[in-house]
Amino acid sequence: FQDNLDKAESYLARFRNDGVSNHIDGQSVPAASGKTFETISPVDQSKLADVAHGGAEDIDRAAKAAKAAFGAWRDMEGGERKKILHKVADAIEARAEEIALVECMDTGQAFRFMSKAALRGAANFRFFADRAPSARDGQSLKAPGQINITTRTPIGPVGLITPWNTPFMLSTWKIAPALAAGCTIVHKPAEFSPLTARLLVEIAEDAGLPKGVWNTVNGFGEDAGKALTEHPHIKAIGFVGESRTGQMILGQGAATLKRVHFELGGKNPVVVFADADLDRAADAALFMIYSLNGERCTSSSRLLIEDSVHDEFVAKLAERAARIKVGHPLDPATVIGPLIHPSHEEKVRSYFDIAQEEGATIATGGEKITDGDLANGCYVRPTLFTNARASMRIAQEEIFGPVLTAIPFADETEALELANGVDYGLAGYVWTHDMTRALRFTEKMDAGMIWVNSQNVRHLPAPFGGMKDSGIGRDGGDYSFEFYMETKNIALAT
Ligand code: NAD
Repeated sequence: FQDNLDKAESYLARFRNDGVSNHIDGQSVPAASGKTFETISPVDQSKLADVAHGGAEDIDRAAKAAKAAFGAWRDMEGGERKKILHKVADAIEARAEEIALVECMDTGQAFRFMSKAALRGAANFRFFADRAPSARDGQSLKAPGQINITTRTPIGPVGLITPWNTPFMLSTWKIAPALAAGCTIVHKPAEFSPLTARLLVEIAEDAGLPKGVWNTVNGFGEDAGKALTEHPHIKAIGFVGESRTGQMILGQGAATLKRVHFELGGKNPVVVFADADLDRAADAALFMIYSLNGERCTSSSRLLIEDSVHDEFVAKLAERAARIKVGHPLDPATVIGPLIHPSHEEKVRSYFDIAQEEGATIATGGEKITDGDLANGCYVRPTLFTNARASMRIAQEEIFGPVLTAIPFADETEALELANGVDYGLAGYVWTHDMTRALRFTEKMDAGMIWVNSQNVRHLPAPFGGMKDSGIGRDGGDYSFEFYMETKNIALAT
């Protein structure tokens, strides 16, 4: 633990001293206005750095740089882009410890998860690097008197707007396919967690990415974010964040007819039937809500559990949740660290009151930690609500913390009604040994991604994304290229 603390402090020193600048056309630059904002650590609410407070002028410069760099990057052989993106992955691996420690202090995520998330970032680059040479491949279709040749070409400079949850890994998930496709980018990281986005662009240019291909502008949604979505040079917006922000971005991008790709909120159910392997299901349910502080879009925040096993299952969960270690994110024993920011902590805590007002039971947790070493940080206890009904706000709204709401069901019909009875449709988890039921049930579930008898295990070529209020479009493998590229058909008369 002490070793992690010492190393983190040495990695943070540059940010404490020099702040976090924007990165435009290969240059590290302050905001055009000269303004900065503070980023704090949720560990103790102390200031970590002054961050460039970008706005419309900075976005304009970044978009122009991305436009100027587009032609050469688009025309570079796919094999060359592949080499550069592999070098980015190598450099991420070489600096994985630094990335993980900085991210833990900036976001409050536990080191045990962040050390893996940094490596996942490298894996995202490798995966898309390998696909860069074939990104443009199309098909040929023979028709009477005609051959159709279909190809793809990168859409142009794109804007990528990312949230504060696992920001490093998520940024790589959006940026790597855009670059592999041949697009140039302007990245607007989340204002609560700007540090590792700064490391990432620096790593990429050190690895040989040409200047102007990747530009990063820090700032808030209402100024830098909005300007990016409205900029005429920016052809598409890849956005990860809240559903209501997605609604705003759709409106903002209308005048310039922006193509959008949205990965939004969720209220994902884990549906446990009585015939399931209940021990495995309990492990997975605990992992999917209490790891990563519950600040994860695919977290299973609703437990739908068959009546006959309900009492035993939730009693076991409550008992195990109460034993989960909440602590400093750099302590290797910690599972749950502090929530991202005092304002988010307040939102999560408000649901402890709402649960009681609505008449649910707090089986465990439901409080902030106010004593000892953790008193100054944004720490809440892992929480389980029972005796909940589907109509309650705790069963409908995305809380985005280590908070699980359990609801019993009588049969498959009711389970499906509950599972689908929310505005969201991102992910779902189903536990049963009856595979016919699993197929029948998942076929009717409103979710873009469903795991049967498993927690969230990602396969990078598989489609990632949600339906209903959880998103528009899919990422992963070729699905990402569909978004970042235009499809062109050439018909030759024969
Ligand atoms: P948020 O929507 O508040 O912010 C996300 C980003 O959008 C930030 O960079 C912010 O500055 C920017 N933004 C805000 N207003 C904007 C505007 N008007 N125009 C342009 N940009 C704007 O989300 P958050 O609180 O940072 O992140 C948490 C949310 O992200 C949760 O709802 C979570 O479910 C969701 N999420 C979804 C996925 C997924 O894959 N579906 C993955 C991770 C997170």
